[in-house]
Amino acid sequence: MRARSYRWLHSKGVAKILVTGGAGYIGSHTRYFLEKSGHTTVVLDSLERGDARAVPAGMLRQVDLRDAAKVRQVLQEEKFDAVIHFAAYMSVGESTERPELYFINNVSGSLNLFDAMLKTGVKSLVFSSTAAAYGIPTKVPITEDLPFAPINPYGESKVMVEKILGWLDRFREFRSVRLRYFNACGAEPASGLGERHDPETHLIPLVLRAVQTGNPVKVFGDDYPTPDGTCIRDYIHVSDLAEAHIVAVEHLLKGGVSDVFNVGTGSGCSVKEVLSAVEQVTGKMVPRTIGPRREGDPPSLVADSTKLQKTLGWKPKRAELHGIVRDAWEFAQKG
Ligand code: UDP
Repeated sequence: MRARSYRWLHSKGVAKILVTGGAGYIGSHTRYFLEKSGHTTVVLDSLERGDARAVPAGMLRQVDLRDAAKVRQVLQEEKFDAVIHFAAYMSVGESTERPELYFINNVSGSLNLFDAMLKTGVKSLVFSSTAAAYGIPTKVPITEDLPFAPINPYGESKVMVEKILGWLDRFREFRSVRLRYFNACGAEPASGLGERHDPETHLIPLVLRAVQTGNPVKVFGDDYPTPDGTCIRDYIHVSDLAEAHIVAVEHLLKGGVSDVFNVGTGSGCSVKEVLSAVEQVTGKMVPRTIGPRREGDPPSLVADSTKLQKTLGWKPKRAELHGIVRDAWEFAQKG
């Protein structure tokens, strides 16, 4: 076991953690849960797409990961025990229009971070990966041993970083936990945080917006080979997802080995089921139109997250769809 993890275990069990992309949706929730667990955090975010309101005063270093010198400076100035790395572009559609943006930001931005970590002796990282790494999976629920088969540049950019992390583990003792997220949604009620993308592309906030504005949400295809014809996804509460990062980083801080885990609930809901849940929670009709399929949408993505549950003792506690929608609705109503 290394000196750093030894120190962590024999102090109060808390660490100083850098959260890149901590002004984003999942990053800000994870930062909130890290603080609740007693850890100290610093957020590194360019604010290009993140929201400064999601970061408490004094915690933000406004730096773009593409600026290697500034990234290195932050890591030299502060002594971190570990890094949780969210900062990335995340729109599948945009990635098919401008793939280069995704490789420059997501891949070379990550490399700048890893290089700065290596130069400053920080060798524990939790990486935000994605179910998009599997493309159209050959079996559902999806286990981590399925091959990489991304079908868009966004997924490919995450796969490339996962592979880089594999080599760094093998030859540089750089340990990482890669978490492959399914569909993050909801909001942590006590935190004041929630989902605020601009432009918004995700189903639940768009459906809630349709309820609020009366402008219909477009259902992307109802001719899929699923029971009601609409796509099935595994909707995971953002707070459950945030807690997965806490167990992952603590695993590394205790000297644990590199690993990869799916993070989902294990049960799938169709787009139509999401619309019904929104109608039940809000008491209002969801105006909708049925449109064509969206490019690159697999019919069904559901996680098998048994490995995470067995290895790190994580469990989704907020898996019920109506509860997720209720939390998202509460946040949406605050404007
Ligand atoms: N979806 C939809 N209309 C929208 C946005 C999304 O029908 O305006 C569908 C989309 O095709 C997918 C599901 O909702 O089957 C979840 O999409 P989202 O973009 O939220 O997440 P993704 O699965 O792409 O990560």
